[in-house]
Amino acid sequence: MLGVYAEILTIGDELCRGEIIDTNAAWLAAALWELDVTTVWMTSCRDVTAEMRLAFDTARQRADLVIVSGGLGPTEDDRTIDVLSALAGVEPEIDEPSRQRLEARFGAGGVSLTANSLRQVRAPAGARVWQNPVGLAPGFEISLGSAAVICMPGVPAEMRALFEGGIGARIADLREARGDRVERVARRVYRVFGAGESELDHALAGLSEATPGASLHFQVVFPEVLIKAVVRTADAEAASAGLAQIDRGVRERLGDKLYGCDDDSFAAVVGRDLLANGATLVTAESCTGGLIGAMLTEVAGSSRYFLGGAITYTNEEKQRQLGVPEAVFIEHGAVSEACVRAMASGARKRFGADYALSVSGVAGPGGGTEEKPVGTVWLALAGPGGVRVRHKRWSGDRARVRRAAAFTALAMLRSALAEEARDASA
Ligand code: ATP
Ligand code: MG
Repeated sequence: MLGVYAEILTIGDELCRGEIIDTNAAWLAAALWELDVTTVWMTSCRDVTAEMRLAFDTARQRADLVIVSGGLGPTEDDRTIDVLSALAGVEPEIDEPSRQRLEARFGAGGVSLTANSLRQVRAPAGARVWQNPVGLAPGFEISLGSAAVICMPGVPAEMRALFEGGIGARIADLREARGDRVERVARRVYRVFGAGESELDHALAGLSEATPGASLHFQVVFPEVLIKAVVRTADAEAASAGLAQIDRGVRERLGDKLYGCDDDSFAAVVGRDLLANGATLVTAESCTGGLIGAMLTEVAGSSRYFLGGAITYTNEEKQRQLGVPEAVFIEHGAVSEACVRAMASGARKRFGADYALSVSGVAGPGGGTEEKPVGTVWLALAGPGGVRVRHKRWSGDRARVRRAAAFTALAMLRSALAEEARDASA
């Protein structure tokens, strides 16, 4: 069978009691996937010798690589080194460079080292050892039968530092050593806002079947949908050619519903559009409470196009900061077309920007009326060509309504900028 298979084994009582969330396993699975190593099992067990033995013994039989975190510390409940040494039929040994680092850290202060503090600088005899750049316990690798077992400390920062500082490269070497079993994986994440999962599935029907080894996976990260394209073959060139074929199909079929790939964010893409148009933006937010501004400023360098904004939550602030006339509240209320129009126009003028986005709505859970139920949101975009508005009604909780509103506001700007660019080139 094609592929190099890994089992991730995380060790610790707290994991099995739900006291800490196993972020190490998730991080390792993503890191292995990047290395074209397929994680087929993820296991957690307690710091109990018999259970650990069974977990190691099972893992080495069903995986090529066993990637372990936890149980390397100095205390009595840190048993990984002893259990693995016993399984491999060797003795634990002090790793000299790690002991020296330990002494440099503690011995210098005149603190004498206790026997148990030396426990954490051991490794099974004959193991390949990696110094820990962050903490004290080294990482190491030993063989159990045909499997390579690689152990790292449980502290997430230490585990990541060891992985990035050499263990990841070692795993890539071990993968290559599997020769013709190595599977090449080409992958890309497509990001969509403004279309549902089933609509996208329908639009992309038949696409992956036309490319050998290809598959498409859908994941909703509300309000976005991610489409993950994966092409797995024995040959790297065939994998990237397959992905290129998928890429053409996805772009052709999704058009501008597709806003970006891989690490793009919606705000970053809209920011690039603003830069391309040489335009600036301000925001006037009510129910989103600064969420649009937060999304925009998550992007480094956004000060080149995002000037700032006002969070005007009360009617008074909408009047005071944006100049919304009092009559608007009396005649239409704060959640109304008239209000978002006045908010956007006021913000655009007062901040002196090319575009201003405004949002006002009922995010819930309270505050809904028959006329304006929870989820009712008005949005406006004021720009050089005038003001455009949208009215939406979302279902779901407060967080969903706010996220949907923020994305929709940015989408309004994105389509206005696209129209502008089209008109300019016409
Ligand atoms: P130490 O030298 O700190 O004892 P260790 O290798 O023995 O390291 P553990 O004792 O298992 O590791 O865990 C140390 C701490 O690291 C835990 O209290 C927890 O905060 C964190 N941790 C351990 N395992 C995980 C995991 N799988 N996911 C996230 N955090 C973890
Ligand atoms: Mg510990």
